[in-house]
Amino acid sequence: MKLQLWRMLLFSTAAVLFLTAGFTYYDTYVVPRCEVCGMSTIYGWRDVLTPDGVHHVSCCPLCTFLLVHKYSSFHVETVCDYCGREITIDVENGVLKKVDPPTAYLILAGSGQRKQSKIACSEECKDKLLMEAPPGSKPLTVKEAFRMASEPVRKYLLWHPITWPLIMELTVLGILTLAAGFAARKFLK
Ligand SMILES: [Zn+2]
Ligand SMILES: [Zn+2]
Repeated sequence: MKLQLWRMLLFSTAAVLFLTAGFTYYDTYVVPRCEVCGMSTIYGWRDVLTPDGVHHVSCCPLCTFLLVHKYSSFHVETVCDYCGREITIDVENGVLKKVDPPTAYLILAGSGQRKQSKIACSEECKDKLLMEAPPGSKPLTVKEAFRMASEPVRKYLLWHPITWPLIMELTVLGILTLAAGFAARKFLK
């Protein structure tokens, strides 16, 4: 009975370790992640193009602007979250160069949840989105939003990807625990 309990405990620990390693792998390398906050982008993302032709992924309009801490120049093509109209934003050498249409707004979600922040193409779309937004949500013009995002202090919001070693450690630990589970019989006899 005692042996079986030990084995059960070790096997379930191993299973948890493997699952965590697997999930971390999936979450880090398979699902595109926001380059800024690290959030998974299963629910959609914004495409950001840097001058070297590389596409980058950000989870929300705010993270898009925060990318300025990583790339000094980039081009954003996104759509109004209300009417679907195309919105393009160009940043050059850390400066907001162009917003099309210039009436675009960023809506900062009052919930503090990134994925709930939105972009609107016009005053009307902004008002419509604000009605659906969580309480405390705040509209900012793209210019204001960009200025806020580019404050040096926001650099600390940048996410650092979990690297291979953690996944390897979890896997190795899982294998060891599994081995201990099989070996448990010998020791407890
Ligand atoms: Zn993000
Ligand atoms: Zn719109």
